[in-house]
Amino acid sequence: MNPTRIVIVGGGFGGLAAAKALAKTPAEITLIDRTNHHLFQPLLYQVATAVLTPSQIATPIRTILRKRKNTTVILGEVTGVDKERKCVFVSNADRENVPISYEYLILATGATHSYFGHNEFAQHAPGMKSVADAVASRNKILQAFETAEAEENPIRHRELLTFILVGAGPTGVEMAGALAVLVRTTLKSAFRRIDPASARIVLVDRGTRVLSPFSEKLSEAAKQRLEKLGVEVHLGKNVDQIDADGIVVAGERIESKTVIWTAGVAPSPAGRWLNAETDRAGRVRVQNDLTLPGYPEIFVVGDTASLEQNGHPLPGVAQVAIQGGRYAGKLIHSRVIGNPPPGPFSYFDKGTMAVVGKGFAVLQSWKVQASGFGAWLTWAFVHLQFLATPSLRLTVFLQWVWTYVTGQRGSELIVNHHGSDLAKPSEGTALKPAA
Ligand SMILES: Cc1cc2nc3c(=O)[nH]c(=O)nc-3n(C[C@H](O)[C@H](O)[C@H](O)COP(=O)(O)OP(=O)(O)OC[C@H]3O[C@@H](n4cnc5c(N)ncnc54)[C@H](O)[C@@H]3O)c2cc1C
Repeated sequence: MNPTRIVIVGGGFGGLAAAKALAKTPAEITLIDRTNHHLFQPLLYQVATAVLTPSQIATPIRTILRKRKNTTVILGEVTGVDKERKCVFVSNADRENVPISYEYLILATGATHSYFGHNEFAQHAPGMKSVADAVASRNKILQAFETAEAEENPIRHRELLTFILVGAGPTGVEMAGALAVLVRTTLKSAFRRIDPASARIVLVDRGTRVLSPFSEKLSEAAKQRLEKLGVEVHLGKNVDQIDADGIVVAGERIESKTVIWTAGVAPSPAGRWLNAETDRAGRVRVQNDLTLPGYPEIFVVGDTASLEQNGHPLPGVAQVAIQGGRYAGKLIHSRVIGNPPPGPFSYFDKGTMAVVGKGFAVLQSWKVQASGFGAWLTWAFVHLQFLATPSLRLTVFLQWVWTYVTGQRGSELIVNHHGSDLAKPSEGTALKPAA
């Protein structure tokens, strides 16, 4: 008898957890991802602010699954699903829309960023979703300091050294805090003509508080901490315009060469592929066993899926994806070997955390609410635990200790600097040839 064919789309938190749960299943598993790596998105901001290198938060999926003999990893982009023929279509550098058939399908394609209908913002305000995004932000930030150092006109220093983050959710807050620490520690003594600590860091959100998923008390603690670090927090203000020279917020123009978008989440196109019912955010509505209604062989997990529990939609966080992927894997395993299936999926919320600068975090778990150094240690411990391999846990731990003690960072390299507008010298630059 031929082994059961299982296709997993996405090697993020959900897809990888599913593949691991299927390790002992007598099946032929194909995991397809458009990148060759599993990415630990919660630490992207540390790559953008030069603390960690990309390879410390991303690991080749093939390496993680090298011992799973029943699993084949394919680098390719899924472009559609045919529910009736039971196949997905995959394109890669070589071929287009190749059908790969399945008996069970797990879709774990995550989410992307949304510009709330203003896609024109993307050109000037890159988001933070991939390794390339984080490296692009790091380039932009470090290049701004380099250009300012070479610039003789002090008026231009102001716009070059103004950094704007749009979105005061966990990513925006963590990024703002890390930038404030970067300019006051690592970069402080590295420049001669400019004072990096004079950089202006602006955090903007149309909501009325930072870290809205947290309690009001913790939101306020995070805001106060940001302000203590010198971050300007603008709440309840809409971004009207973003262009090459800055943004317009609630009618006020702020000149800046570096705007980073950390707001808004848009789902993957899985709902369209499946021609399925989606929620208001575009996520595929699934049943309480994470399958698509009418299709018991199709599972949708993580950020791509929409499921309510206790009257509330499950949040788009790593734990939901990990637990969902694991559940889908276990359910398929029990069906394949003929065991009774597990009960409905039940998400266990372990809590949520966010870092605000050096040695400070906010933590909310059940009835526990904490902020400060203890919460930061817990944050560090939990994040280390969830990195993909033991070697990453070790290198990231050592880098954190080193950065904490010395202020030095893992990678302050500007790569692909020829691609940056900021590299072009302007009138009055110190790099002007001598007359
Ligand atoms: C900057 C940032 C910070 C975050 N911080 C936190 C945090 O602190 N705590 C927390 O719990 N959560 C955090 N999250 C959210 C968390 O990362 C997501 O909830 C989680 O990654 C969802 O897992 P997933 O498996 O659904 O999707 P992902 O982990 O995004 O994985 C999706 C995978 O699918 C692949 N893929 C997508 N489309 C296709 C396609 N068409 N073909 C082939 N492959 C495809 C992608 O390449 C990717 O590997 C953060 C997210 C971001 C962006």
